[in-house]
Amino acid sequence: MQQCTFCGNKHLKKTLTEYTYRRDGAYMIFHNVPAVQCEFCGEKYFAAKTLKQIDNEFAAVKNGTRHAEEIRVPVEDFAQLDVA
Ligand SMILES: [Zn+2]
Repeated sequence: MQQCTFCGNKHLKKTLTEYTYRRDGAYMIFHNVPAVQCEFCGEKYFAAKTLKQIDNEFAAVKNGTRHAEEIRVPVEDFAQLDVA
């Protein structure tokens, strides 16, 4: 990738990041996912093969062929809060 498609900045750096995958109301968190990040706006980009691998891992864990660590996550509903 040569340029941030979000802001047009050309300074992108390699990084490892956390990726939260969500599908059909289920979540899976991936640590240390390789990405390139725009140094200006912070937008992150992932390789198609990385996203495909995340897809496959999620499917494997969901159908039980692969085991992953699980955490409990608190959930809150802020519908009654105002914006300002
Ligand atoms: Zn950017």
